[in-house]
Amino acid sequence: MTICAFRGEFLSVARDPLRDPASVRHEVDGLLVVEDGIIAARGAYADLVDRFADVPIETLPGLIVPGFVDAHVHYPQMDKIASHGEQLLDWLDRHIFPAEKAFANKAHASSVAEAFLDELLRNGTTSALVYPTVHEVSVDALFEAALARDMRIISGKVLMDLGPDGLSDTLASGRAETEALIRRWRGRGRLGYAVTPRFALASSDVQLADAGALLADNPGILMHTHLAENVREVSAVAARFADSLDYLDAYDRFGLVTSRSVFAHGVHLPDRACARLAETGAGIAVCPSSNLFLGSGFFHFAQADRHGVKLGLGTDIGAGTTFSMLHTAGLAYQAGLAREYPLDPFRALWLATGGSAALLHIEDKIGALEVGQEADFVVLDDASTPLLARRTAGVPLAARLFALQILGDDRAVRRTYIMGNLAWDRDA
Ligand SMILES: [Zn+2]
Repeated sequence: MTICAFRGEFLSVARDPLRDPASVRHEVDGLLVVEDGIIAARGAYADLVDRFADVPIETLPGLIVPGFVDAHVHYPQMDKIASHGEQLLDWLDRHIFPAEKAFANKAHASSVAEAFLDELLRNGTTSALVYPTVHEVSVDALFEAALARDMRIISGKVLMDLGPDGLSDTLASGRAETEALIRRWRGRGRLGYAVTPRFALASSDVQLADAGALLADNPGILMHTHLAENVREVSAVAARFADSLDYLDAYDRFGLVTSRSVFAHGVHLPDRACARLAETGAGIAVCPSSNLFLGSGFFHFAQADRHGVKLGLGTDIGAGTTFSMLHTAGLAYQAGLAREYPLDPFRALWLATGGSAALLHIEDKIGALEVGQEADFVVLDDASTPLLARRTAGVPLAARLFALQILGDDRAVRRTYIMGNLAWDRDA
């Protein structure tokens, strides 16, 4: 048994502060005791120090928050960030599909997966729900790299039997490879599986129905796909699924709308779809940087809240333009304000940690630095640039946190810890 403790300033938000303001937890001088990677105690240093007098204590400089949870990101797209000129459907055809074809090669997939996970850690992201490609080996490459880093990564082979040449599967191969991957990876390390139809337009009706069957037959796994991202995409879905009530209903008819369903975007949804999401317990990974980059629109926070839709936050690399969940939280504020919704900085932190964890059904394990949770955390530096230092000096906590979200990025991540072990050190 190994036991150690960290002293410093702690901040976490365990539940949606919109509904439970008391969920914001802050210790100016706190102590976090970690036993074999699990949090054994947390509280004010003065209250705990006598109880743990024999435990070695490391003092951490900065604001310590839970490791960030990226609820929607594509690892094979990281080298296509900043591809110019098109909205979603043309951007996929011109930039993304050609790049994804290379992931049939395991060595290529492994080298990108290693770089991707390093970039997550450099940005303080310790858990993520990740798109690979249609290729079975692209999942193996990611899971192998995540297992070596002991990271909490959820992924699953992309299903797309209507995909372009060189990037499509079939009903039979999609099912066989999904089942093989679940058998191979289930229960290993901190990994999880998600049935991952690319989006409604990329799969046949029979494959969408089969994805619903895979979800029903494998309790404990997630379903991960895209929903109502871009205006032209929404029109194309309405044309193909003409008898569906709306985009969400096209998935619903195939059994894909459940409490274990995670939908990226949801920018263009009617009230009926929001009500149905809330009724089923399905949720949305809000991806503001991607929505801005592809000209998709601004997420409607007020509408989602009115219906009680479960929310998390995602970068959606490579349509997203930053790996930083801090910066993404700041962009969520700006997207919200475009629809007259001033997102609270504590709620933005919750979306990037505990909210995304709940969306991914891992909130019992991570996201709030509570006793019994895994000790994944980040040490933030609120003086990482001269401007940030000026803006955060002597201001209240909410203003400091908001400045970190608006001005902060990877430079503000001093250290990242996985299960109590140092996984990234900016100053090393
Ligand atoms: Zn995406």
